[in-house]
Amino acid sequence: MIEFASVVEKVRLIDPAGHEVEQQIEHRTDPLTSTVASINSALSEKAKAFLLGGTDVQLLREYQEKTREGCPFCSVAEKGTRFPADVIEEGQLRVGRSVAVPNLFSKMAFDAVAILDPARHVLFPSQIGPEALADAIRLSCELVCRARARDAAQVHHVVGMNFLGPGGSSLPHPHFQVHVRGVPYSGVSRLLRSSAAFQQRTGRDYWTELIEQEKQIGTRYIGRSGRVEWVAAYAPAHQREIWGVVPGIGSLAELPAADAEGVAAGIAKVISVYEALGSHPFTFAFFSSPQPGRGKDFALHVKLCSRPPFRSMYSNYDTWFTPKLVGDDVHTQAPEEYAGLIRKQWSGEGRS
Ligand SMILES: [Zn+2]
Repeated sequence: MIEFASVVEKVRLIDPAGHEVEQQIEHRTDPLTSTVASINSALSEKAKAFLLGGTDVQLLREYQEKTREGCPFCSVAEKGTRFPADVIEEGQLRVGRSVAVPNLFSKMAFDAVAILDPARHVLFPSQIGPEALADAIRLSCELVCRARARDAAQVHHVVGMNFLGPGGSSLPHPHFQVHVRGVPYSGVSRLLRSSAAFQQRTGRDYWTELIEQEKQIGTRYIGRSGRVEWVAAYAPAHQREIWGVVPGIGSLAELPAADAEGVAAGIAKVISVYEALGSHPFTFAFFSSPQPGRGKDFALHVKLCSRPPFRSMYSNYDTWFTPKLVGDDVHTQAPEEYAGLIRKQWSGEGRS
């Protein structure tokens, strides 16, 4: 059994009007990583002051038009970088509508940008679409496999997406980054170690157990897209943190095409809800085992979170000192609340 630990604290204060008010804070500990998430719904008033109605949609529309001209990803076929023939023979690698090219400023031995669809310079999450996301996921899997085939040491990989400036992106045209290196990623290694330790301790796979329990509890379970299971993190380390879990598959290096479509369908729905909630910027990353065949004690999963709304002078409220430097975050909304909103997007699909 997974223990969903939680401690409630109360605080009293005199508000500016002279009234004594009491607030309740719930501290939740993640059962696997032990990070702590604090939830105080009274903070939603403070959050409103930060959000001021969310993204400035007019500003984003203007930004979309302004950045289209001169966008290097719109004209990637003519003006983009290319891999040397001994790295990727094709120079630019295409799967469906997605195109991979080397990052102009590399951070590791293999650093690629996977443009979802060069023909679609869209800066609204709901317009990105599951088809382009699925192509980019399949393309990322192909890149991870090719890097490994070329050099057996190049197995440690992270695939992710930053969207819009507040989401950590410098170029707005929708794209993934595919990173492969010979040195393990600390966060991926920690998760692999904790998952293996859980199985040694209990004889069960943490991720299978998690999905089973979340289905029973029901309030954080969102639904399925294909075989992929979606839940809101019990103790979110990031804002509106949602996980898409691929049961029995440990690595992008072994992800079947049908599951890539399942993951893409779920991502498209989650980011559309983020948009509806006023947070167009988002960030996600795949947690993927460097070695295939780990599906018995680890499940490939994608973690998504919403980022500060797109508007001028936005506040970086998700990178204040506790989440940024200490590792624990505070939330104004319980995961059960936004899980409920996202679940509505899953209507008609396998909720079991
Ligand atoms: Zn573009």
